[in-house]
Amino acid sequence: MSEKKRFETQVINDEILAKLSLQNRYNFVNDNLRTILSEKEFKFLNQVQEFCLNYETKNKITHGPDEDIYDWVPDFGKEGYITRQTPYKCIDLNYEDYGMAIEFMRILALDNFDPQFAMSTGATVICINPIYAHHENVPVRLDALKELVTGQEVGCLLITEPERGSDAVHQLTTCDKQDDGSFLLNGEKIFNTNAPKAKWAVSYATAEKNQGNLMGQFLINTSWEGWNIERVNIPWTPKLFIGKERLKNLRVPKEYVLGGIGKGREHLFEGLIPERIAIAVRCISACWGALAHSTIYANMRRQFDKEILLFQGVGFTLADLWAKTAAITHGVLKFAEKYDEKVKKYGGNLPDPVAQSMVSSASQYKYICAKLAKEVCFESANSMGGAGVCDNTLMHDYIGVSRILEVVGGTKEVQKLIMSRGLRRLFKNL
Ligand SMILES: Cc1cc2nc3c(=O)[nH]c(=O)nc-3n(C[C@H](O)[C@H](O)[C@H](O)COP(=O)(O)OP(=O)(O)OC[C@H]3O[C@@H](n4cnc5c(N)ncnc54)[C@H](O)[C@@H]3O)c2cc1C
Repeated sequence: MSEKKRFETQVINDEILAKLSLQNRYNFVNDNLRTILSEKEFKFLNQVQEFCLNYETKNKITHGPDEDIYDWVPDFGKEGYITRQTPYKCIDLNYEDYGMAIEFMRILALDNFDPQFAMSTGATVICINPIYAHHENVPVRLDALKELVTGQEVGCLLITEPERGSDAVHQLTTCDKQDDGSFLLNGEKIFNTNAPKAKWAVSYATAEKNQGNLMGQFLINTSWEGWNIERVNIPWTPKLFIGKERLKNLRVPKEYVLGGIGKGREHLFEGLIPERIAIAVRCISACWGALAHSTIYANMRRQFDKEILLFQGVGFTLADLWAKTAAITHGVLKFAEKYDEKVKKYGGNLPDPVAQSMVSSASQYKYICAKLAKEVCFESANSMGGAGVCDNTLMHDYIGVSRILEVVGGTKEVQKLIMSRGLRRLFKNL
């Protein structure tokens, strides 16, 4: 077998390239976060980092263009690193470390290891969450859940349609209830991360086009007749498989219906808080990954006879990005910890006022973190000059992923729309 290629041509010198190792990037992140993480969070972060380091070495992973990130899913699944949002007792897993703050640590470690891989696990998680919330101990749902959580299979979520993106509640994909309780799905979905690689999909559809109140939620095995898929090419994230699906008389048996007509909208909204916190966390993780690269590089690269970090143009830029990243990390972490507290207290069914306030906060963090990732990834790369935009490091992945993080889970305009409604609600409460 030929040696896997990490890059086309080496641009960065041997000494700097060696210093940019995953171990050193983890050390940089750990030195930054050690004091603000709880003992439990830091221990779990180190545990996932250790796994990634060994995995990278053992499998000679280069993060080069000829690797398939989906090959890694089963190994990470076996370790319990696809999701840690709950203990998953219903499928006999009972993880000791779980919750949104622990999930933060999982994402951070995976994102530093490989940002596109971290993003693909996130798309499986948004398929897992609705199955977990609505499995009702139905065996086929539990089986699907176990396959996804343990990494035996990949999952995807189908909300977006070619003609309905931001306006996700006025869907055109229809669901027709049959006499035996099954549903026939017809319509098109698009931009669904992982879909071409996924065995399981969770999809929304409506009994009447454009009627948000008549939506249902369905678990689909992608081997069923009526599932037709093409891959959508997103050049910013070339290793991710994104799908465009045509659902043609796709029959969903009764036991796979996660929410019947009228339940879809509620299920859609309940998933938004954890989804948006997770996106905010991925943005923050990308910032740390980019900063680790640029800090190491700027401390070693010499121009005009000194290290470029010592020029204010570089050093002060990185200091500015570092301050913003650290401060927002504290905010997101606190919010994740508070979310865990509320879920523990209310058993997952957050009372309306708490849920509404958390929806606004999740939008605030998604909005501000995506903006920050755009700035930090782009400017960190610039501070590295040509080395920041070539293929020798993960910097180009960070720029690509930060481009996508702005769009997924709702664009900044949609987040502002949600937040402005929150301001209206607060005023009405006065
Ligand atoms: C790489 C990638 C992965 C994705 N993964 C998934 C996935 O796994 N599952 C899934 O279901 N979807 C996924 N999406 C879809 C994503 O959620 C949508 O692209 C996003 O919601 C925007 O929809 P749209 O692309 O149709 O844009 P549009 O809704 O057409 O928006 C176009 C522009 O109009 C603006 N706009 C729209 N409405 C308003 C408004 N009311 N006020 C102000 N401005 C507005 C938007 O901000 C945007 O700038 C993914 C997208 C990408 C690119």
